Amino acid sequence: MSAKNDLDKPLSEEQKLHNMRHSCSHILAQAVLEMFPDAKLGIGPTIETGFYYDFDLPRTLIPEDLKILEDKMKRIIKEKQTFHRVEEPAAEAVEFLEGKGQPYKAEVVRDLMEEGEEIVSFYENKDRKDNLKFWDLCEGGHLENTGQVGAFKLTKIAGAYWRGDEKRPMLQRIYGACFLTKEELKAYLDQLEEAKKRDHKVLGPKLGLYTSSPLVGAGLPLLGPKGAVIRRELEDYLWELHKNRGYSRVYSPHIAKEDLYVQSGHAAKFGDELFRVKGKEDSFILKPMNCPHHMQIFSDNQFSYRDMPVRYFEPAVVYRDEKSGQLGGLTRVRSITQDDGHLFCRVSQIKAEVKIVCEVINEFYSTIGMNEDYWVSLSVRGEERDKYLGDDKIWEQAEEALEEAAKAIKLPYKRVEGEAAFYGPKLDFMFKDAIGREWQLATIQCDFNLPLRFELEFTNEEGEKERPVVIHRAICGSFERFMGVLIEHFVGAFPVWLAPVQVQIIPVATPHHDFANKYAQKLRSEGARVIVDDSNDSLGKRIRNAEMQKIPYMLVVGDKEIDGDNIAVRSYKTKEQFDVGKNEFIDQLKADIKERKL
Ligand SMILES: [Zn+2]
Ligand SMILES: [Zn+2]
Repeated sequence: MSAKNDLDKPLSEEQKLHNMRHSCSHILAQAVLEMFPDAKLGIGPTIETGFYYDFDLPRTLIPEDLKILEDKMKRIIKEKQTFHRVEEPAAEAVEFLEGKGQPYKAEVVRDLMEEGEEIVSFYENKDRKDNLKFWDLCEGGHLENTGQVGAFKLTKIAGAYWRGDEKRPMLQRIYGACFLTKEELKAYLDQLEEAKKRDHKVLGPKLGLYTSSPLVGAGLPLLGPKGAVIRRELEDYLWELHKNRGYSRVYSPHIAKEDLYVQSGHAAKFGDELFRVKGKEDSFILKPMNCPHHMQIFSDNQFSYRDMPVRYFEPAVVYRDEKSGQLGGLTRVRSITQDDGHLFCRVSQIKAEVKIVCEVINEFYSTIGMNEDYWVSLSVRGEERDKYLGDDKIWEQAEEALEEAAKAIKLPYKRVEGEAAFYGPKLDFMFKDAIGREWQLATIQCDFNLPLRFELEFTNEEGEKERPVVIHRAICGSFERFMGVLIEHFVGAFPVWLAPVQVQIIPVATPHHDFANKYAQKLRSEGARVIVDDSNDSLGKRIRNAEMQKIPYMLVVGDKEIDGDNIAVRSYKTKEQFDVGKNEFIDQLKADIKERKL
């Protein structure tokens, strides 16, 4: 092989971008070595928006270091250093790397040797006079020279254990963004800036939605009264969308015997992520999934074809012992409430059932304001057929049913080969939030595995036992994660129906307290969530507080409001103040809530 190999074929945009990002990580490592000649290099892969590189350094990096490193990188880019591939016998490479004080790289080569590699490759950077400027152990995919980097910026310093193992040394990770053009980089950095303002980990506690406690533990967020309102509204709305579509509510306990998960296969799948509960006589497991419980509810009943499909709905908490280093906010948690539901149906019923679930998804995300520009991954089997469980014929029917349903309701779907679960094909919904970030939220998954493992059956027209198909469906996925997404999507300014406090009434002075409280009571009796701020703070401060809490409607009441027919309303969303009849406002508020207006 030669250096030319990287360049022979014309590259796709995607490969070009990958090579650029990866080359940029070499340039970063080169700059770091200029700054810290004793730096030990970890790995430097590409990520979705750029790259990172892990280093073992003699001191902790500070944000100011990034600027220094960027300047060095810019110089290296200007110098148009060329990339060259060099191959070495692996055993010699280990010796070389150890001699050069690069134990992490040496470890990588030793692992490659264990996998049977005999030759490893290095990439060298050379300047125009052919002087060696930098080298790195690497498989490749690079630019021809450093001058071809489009636009980059170092964005973040973080800690990362070598190989993700907390028993190994903690390295310092430098993240960089890298794009083909300056414009694309700017758009990304703007989005990042916007995302910072919306960060639910900052906004959530600030708005009093949730808190965490070291006594309770990491990854176990506690919803306060305000967060609970949002959660409850979401749950109620979801149930409203299901109750007239043939679903029944069920409840299942939080623990079960290990046997249940051995039979379902989840014990093997979740391994050490399972929480174990020791009882006096039996040991139990905190459920990592709701599915096995629902399978047991179904299997307890003698169903006939006339009863099919059977549909269960249960928003329920599952527990997974994620590593504490990965926990945070509402998106990385150990207690996850899934808005779960399971359908038991015949293969011939899949299409109709999927259509119903899609209707629910469509209505739900229209209400949230996220169904403008979404897409759906129709995840089907790949080439390696032995990876998948179940009959070819059933797979074909199920994939066809999903695709037909997607077509019938004009879902913007893409068929993605090889993305199916081993137990069945699925539809994954990718929604975009207000700043264009994509979130995988709703999902509809066919499952041929659990019915088999639990020997589920119903009696068909011929009086014979027939195996149903299970469909797992979730509309928002996990309530915790979804609330995190919602906080960021709305920047904490929730539509009226979701807002923990919908109206804040601010009496100008003591003589107005009585009217304020009476009017509040009237609004409450119509189902609204209202607070009267009659504290001793100045009027200006109380108005600012209501603003900070992002309360949809603020009513400042004084003599004019008491004596007249109108009330002065300030809308958080439009920032406008308007006068409206006292009763008219109540009607408008009721309509906002009932129709779940955005
Ligand atoms: Zn490389
Ligand atoms: Zn399930």
